[in-house]
Amino acid sequence: MTFHILTIFPEFFSGPFEHGVIRKAQAEGRLEIRVHDLRHWTYDRHRTVDDRPFGGGEGMLLKPEPLFEAVEAILPKRTPKQKVILLSAQGRRFTQALAREFSMMNDLLLICGRYEGVDERVAEHLADAEVSIGDFVLSGGELAAAAIVDSVARLLPGVLGNEHSTRNESFCEENEGLLDCPQYTRPAEYRGWAVPDVLLGGNHEEIKRWRRAASLAKTERLRPDLMESRELRKN
Ligand code: SAH
Repeated sequence: MTFHILTIFPEFFSGPFEHGVIRKAQAEGRLEIRVHDLRHWTYDRHRTVDDRPFGGGEGMLLKPEPLFEAVEAILPKRTPKQKVILLSAQGRRFTQALAREFSMMNDLLLICGRYEGVDERVAEHLADAEVSIGDFVLSGGELAAAAIVDSVARLLPGVLGNEHSTRNESFCEENEGLLDCPQYTRPAEYRGWAVPDVLLGGNHEEIKRWRRAASLAKTERLRPDLMESRELRKN
């Protein structure tokens, strides 16, 4: 799979993908991350990518022409396996389910907004979807793009070794969309806090039951909204 990131700050990405499994997966050719400088598609002396909003108001917007030209140059004939996503605080919320959907693509192009945002015609006529990583406002789409690439990349075949599975984690179907269960490692007692007894014994059935109950309890406590969507799915 190839990830494309369209940004006015290409240097931003010299760090986030150079660690751990994502770095290894790139070296092994399991995925490719191409960072494209939006200014490449500007033709004036100042390489202008932004302009003032019609109707007044603060700040600047990314103008449409460089974005349209860039996307059309990077993915000239868009197929159903190629998706163009505009990062936006106003977008559909990014979830593990959407990460899984994206992991089925051949190409994922992420457009990073900046300043006060992006000319609306990009959302309406260029991007396949507007996606937000949460109900808060970032100063640019770059951090959001890095989060999406990371979460999608680890779902690709072979990216996580056998020691890891993406099938028993928080939010996944196999886990009924619940949070993962609490986990512990040594020491069995730390500062007087003991690891639950059941985990120290070797009874796998009991451990399984305990984990499921702990998963449910933690989800109920921290994410009651996930419990509700689980009930809805069951009906
Ligand atoms: N004026 C806009 C915010 C612009 S923030 C508004 O009020 O909705 C500048 C850029 O940061 C956006 O264009 C978008 O690309 C990115 N961004 C900000 N918050 C984001 C979020 N929660 N998820 C994804 N991208 C976000």
